Amino acid sequence: MPPKDKHDAYVECPMCDVEVPISQDDKVGDQIFCVYCSTPLKIRKRKDTDELFLEEDF
Ligand SMILES: [Zn+2]
Repeated sequence: MPPKDKHDAYVECPMCDVEVPISQDDKVGDQIFCVYCSTPLKIRKRKDTDELFLEEDF
């Protein structure tokens, strides 16, 4: 198995559509900031697909 990258996922910012890196240390419910527009974003997970997505968290 190849070594895991620090960032294991990229999720699109709902404000500016930039791919924001999500590290393995980030958990669902954590707040992160978009690397591009600095919008506070909350990590969410879709119940049906387990897919991560970001939601504005002003
Ligand atoms: Zn953004």
